[in-house]
Amino acid sequence: MTVLAVADHRRGELRDVSFELLTAGRELADAADTELHVAVVSGETETFADELNREGVDAVHTVDYGEEFNHDVYAQAVTALTEDLDAEFLLVPNSVNGLDYAPAVATRLDRPYASDAVGLAYDGTLEVTREMYGSKVETTVDVTEGPYVVSIRSGEWPPAEGVGEAEISAFDFAPDEDAIGSTVRGFEEVGGGDVDISDADFLVSIGRGIEEEENLPLVEALVEATGATLSSSRPIVDNEWLPKNRQVGQSGKHVTPDVYLAIGISGAVQHVAGMKGAETIIAINTDPNAPIFDIADYGVVGDLFEVVPALIEEFGGEPPSV
Ligand code: FAD
Repeated sequence: MTVLAVADHRRGELRDVSFELLTAGRELADAADTELHVAVVSGETETFADELNREGVDAVHTVDYGEEFNHDVYAQAVTALTEDLDAEFLLVPNSVNGLDYAPAVATRLDRPYASDAVGLAYDGTLEVTREMYGSKVETTVDVTEGPYVVSIRSGEWPPAEGVGEAEISAFDFAPDEDAIGSTVRGFEEVGGGDVDISDADFLVSIGRGIEEEENLPLVEALVEATGATLSSSRPIVDNEWLPKNRQVGQSGKHVTPDVYLAIGISGAVQHVAGMKGAETIIAINTDPNAPIFDIADYGVVGDLFEVVPALIEEFGGEPPSV
């Protein structure tokens, strides 16, 4: 019956969703009364395997091959391991990587594939909750016949904690080299340097309430005074005031910081879809009826041009004149 979760990593680090995957996998394993196994495919599996050995994990499998993500390697390795374990449930992150190989594995194994799951339940039939129409409605999909392949959305499950006692074993995998059609030749960062807002603990996020690009230094001064990372809603990116990799939301990044400070952001569903997993949400908005206040833990109904300078001073910074 086994649940097999496949971890995601990038540039030498496991991504947060890998640990969320373990929580989702454990829940599913409990419902199906079975074991949770986790796999990592990489040339550097040793540290990854130790990190993935969290409470609730029954076995860790390493596939020692390659450096960075490669479609053909993952498709082959994950297919082989799923078959070897006879895993009933294959769980992968709904990330760029997961979305790349999960359909290929599902096709090879002739299994149904449910993507972008935000909830899972199992009582002999797998029920997958998904969001539709820009997160305006939730749908549940009954996947009546297993075995299954499911990709899960990041930020929907808490990360697994604690140190586990699972056995770590290397899976004997020799890829068909002739079937590897691509190689990664290098990486080029997109605009915005190497900032990855999905890794930040404290995000200060700016929206259309900032009015003009000339006013951005005000928020940047707050970012500097607090040691936060700057992110934004989509209109800021559409206006090209900030690069695309700073956008939070449905068509941007999913973030799960400890603190998300939303300044001049209304809280449209497409924005909320990307940040509702934040531990603590704080909002500053002139409109007391702005939807962002529905999900905020703390809120300031006020003008950002008055509140932000006061905050900068509170943190020992100096507000610029905008
Ligand atoms: P607005 O909705 O215009 O809100 C501005 C807020 O600022 C208002 O609440 C206002 O009261 C407040 N304000 C104004 N002046 C001040 C002031 N002086 N002080 C304090 N507050 C002030 N959006 C995203 O963010 N991310 C996405 O990934 C995304 N994907 C999308 C995908 C699709 C398919 C579609 C259709 C839309 C998407 N959107 C996305 C756009 C989304 O629908 C909203 O238009 C957008 O989130 C609004 O951004 P905003 O809150 O900054 O602006």
